[in-house]
Amino acid sequence: MSLIDLHIHSTLSDGTLSPEEIVSLAKERGLVALSITDHDTLAAYPALHQLGQAQGLEIITGIEVTAHQDDLSLHLLGYGLDPQSLGLTTALDEIQEARQERNRGIIARLNDLNIPLRLEDLPNHQGQTGRPHIARALTLRGVVRSEQEAFARFLRKDGAAYVKRQLLPVRQAMAMIIEAGGLPVLAHPGTMKLHEAALARLVNELKDQGLAGIEVHHPMNGENTRHLLRKLCQTLGLLVTGGSDFHGREGDRAPLGESGGRRPVPAALLPPLSARLGQPLPSPPLSDTRHAHHPHR
Ligand code: AMP
Ligand code: FE
Ligand code: FE
Ligand code: ZN
Repeated sequence: MSLIDLHIHSTLSDGTLSPEEIVSLAKERGLVALSITDHDTLAAYPALHQLGQAQGLEIITGIEVTAHQDDLSLHLLGYGLDPQSLGLTTALDEIQEARQERNRGIIARLNDLNIPLRLEDLPNHQGQTGRPHIARALTLRGVVRSEQEAFARFLRKDGAAYVKRQLLPVRQAMAMIIEAGGLPVLAHPGTMKLHEAALARLVNELKDQGLAGIEVHHPMNGENTRHLLRKLCQTLGLLVTGGSDFHGREGDRAPLGESGGRRPVPAALLPPLSARLGQPLPSPPLSDTRHAHHPHR
């Protein structure tokens, strides 16, 4: 069976492999298509398209954005967005600025605890910097023995150096993706630990705001959840997507192209997604049909 992977993190957010290394690994594992979905950044694009082309791999532009609905924090994947979209780049710059502000806050708290760390000690690249980078820096300095310990002692919610991050309301995050020509997909619903009825209600609400699909294949979705999600996709005409959520580090939940427990992410998911992402027909050039909520077969 051919494999794809629509949920991957690179060094441009909190992954440990560069986009080049991910593309090589994907070739090695026989993937036919992939999307790098770094947190809050499209920095891997458009260069990734050239890398994919050189290797004969289909590349879907992607991103993962954290949003909230009341007290619920949820992750949205966006596929096929235009990285040049001005509204999108402005919004992402604002998110990165808010992140840096928060990173400064966390570092100030660590300093108060007599742990000397400076903002300059974190990777300062194009892309996203967050708690995983702080955890890595603390581990490298021998303040903690592992990144897990860094989270457990300092960085987890209620940890000694935790600072809250301002999140986008889901409605706004969804609009940001749609306005950039992308398809919003609800990521790993299994992580939200909602009861069936609550999950179904949430998906219905999001669908009304333009949700295009659900990440059914993901290591954090149990078998029952996958079953429920598949039914919701069928009833509501939503795309089924999937990925490993690979971060490149050892002990990650699943290898590239798998969604946990050795289950493959099947390439059969790709044609319906590609069809939805297809360029609007050249005529009539009245409206951008890609944005329209036409019923999905
Ligand atoms: P941030 O976006 O800066 O708030 O960091 C969130 C990221 O930190 C997530 O994507 C996870 O990869 C990682 N993370 C969150 N909680 C933990 C934890 N308890 N242990 C290890 N990694 C975590
Ligand atoms: Fe992550
Ligand atoms: Fe996520
Ligand atoms: Zn992810």
